[in-house]
Amino acid sequence: MEVNKCRECGKELTHDEIGLYRRLVNRGAKDFLCIECLAAYFRISVDVLRKRIQTFKADGCTLFF
Ligand SMILES: [Zn+2]
Repeated sequence: MEVNKCRECGKELTHDEIGLYRRLVNRGAKDFLCIECLAAYFRISVDVLRKRIQTFKADGCTLFF
C-alpha cells in the first residue's frame, strides 16, 4: 500500500489529514497537505482544523471512515 505524504513538507499523513484535505479542498485529490501545511494554506490555526475533523466525524462524513 502506498504511503501518502504531505506535498509541502513530506510528512507522512494520517487518515484524518487525508480526509480533511478531501473535505476542504478537493474530494478527488491525489496529493495532500498535512494539517500544519493545510492550516498555513488557509491561514488559520491547526486547532481550528482539528475541531473541523471532530465536527465532520460527528456528522458521519464518509471521508473519515
Ligand atoms: Zn506538511
